[in-house]
Amino acid sequence: MYAQMVVQADRACGQRVSRAGAASGILPSAGSPTWPRRPSRARTLPHPFASTVRPHARTGVTPMRPMLKPGLARLRRDELTLQFGTVRRYARLVEQADAAVAAFLDLVDGTRDTPELLAAGERLGLDPGLGRALLDSLADGELLDDAEALARALEGFPQPQREVLGPDAAGLSLVHPEPGEAAEVIAARRRARVEVRGAGRVGAALAAVLSAGGIGAVTVADGGRVEPGDCSPAGIPPTDVGRLRSTAAREAVLRAAAAAPAERHRPAPVAAGLPALVVLAPRDGAGAWTGRAVEAHELARSGVPHLYVGVLEHLGVVGPLVVPGSSACGGCAALTRADEDEGWPGLLAQLEGTGAGPARRPACDSALATAVAGLAALHAQLFLDGVLPPSVDGWCELSAADGMVRRLRLPAHPSCGCQWPGGRPPLAVPGAGACSGAGRGGT
Ligand SMILES: [Zn+2]
Repeated sequence: MYAQMVVQADRACGQRVSRAGAASGILPSAGSPTWPRRPSRARTLPHPFASTVRPHARTGVTPMRPMLKPGLARLRRDELTLQFGTVRRYARLVEQADAAVAAFLDLVDGTRDTPELLAAGERLGLDPGLGRALLDSLADGELLDDAEALARALEGFPQPQREVLGPDAAGLSLVHPEPGEAAEVIAARRRARVEVRGAGRVGAALAAVLSAGGIGAVTVADGGRVEPGDCSPAGIPPTDVGRLRSTAAREAVLRAAAAAPAERHRPAPVAAGLPALVVLAPRDGAGAWTGRAVEAHELARSGVPHLYVGVLEHLGVVGPLVVPGSSACGGCAALTRADEDEGWPGLLAQLEGTGAGPARRPACDSALATAVAGLAALHAQLFLDGVLPPSVDGWCELSAADGMVRRLRLPAHPSCGCQWPGGRPPLAVPGAGACSGAGRGGT
């Protein structure tokens, strides 16, 4: 029975259509530096809506405790065909899936290692050799993950947060498809430290989302006391008005990590070494234009990657995410705008507080601020996971006027000097690889 399934699946694979790059999203300019890009994974689609699982060409790569990826819906397309997943990028067919195969698939839930699974399959009438071939086919079709590796990665988190991270892990298992790969990403996130500067409507929410996503140490730096305009459903609640911003933001971070109420008063972790990423999210949003030149210079000199985030009037801005010496910086953005508007540097100086006329009440739509916080958190996570986000050598704008998200390119400005050769040793980028850097930055 299963042999027929394999033959049919193999035949279907002869009609493969390459989709290389179809899921790659927005990538930076062609002139961007060497980067730890995740290679686009060519997928095949012999079926209009799902590719077919085929015999595994490799051997010995089935995970230690195989688990069908829990994030994929299991559907029956016809009497003998199962479909896993609905999104074209991940959907797979398992053909000739009779009752024995379906029952075997029920057992692939991460509670058994491979020998135990094959023995259980044999009791269902499935030959061990065919069971092994089926497992290999499932692995080759990126339907399997390693439950043991995932459990080890989640052990590093407190029990309540392990449960909260379940859907995140299911999603990561799809984005990072090799068995055990999502577990490595989760473990790396737990080791990472991100510093968010600004505990306003965007910054506090962003910090909370990062914490919820498993970033092990998220600190929020800001002064003063919470004002009503700082509050948002994803960040600091209105009940915290009047409290210290740093304390309220810290509690939002711990709440998002499912910390018990008694634990939310524990102090922020002691900073050790440089953070993997600094997010510049000043409360008035103007920093997303100005980048706060001195701050940006310091980060660039230290080789610390940093991401500009803010809401300005009706526009949410995510980016650029600057890897010093390797991608366009805030200074490049300011110089590019000055090329178009010679008065811009003077306006920029006023926005930084040295001139007259800051906004009396900075505009910050709640829905826009929450969307900006979420998008910025996603870009930060991608960067920490070793994937290139579109805010590198560019930035994204979200408009409260039309709800559109646009990505704009940001080439390095020839007068900025942030990518002039020489000066800085290679900078390790979280997640994978390294990039070289020289430079100064700042806006
Ligand atoms: Zn620059």
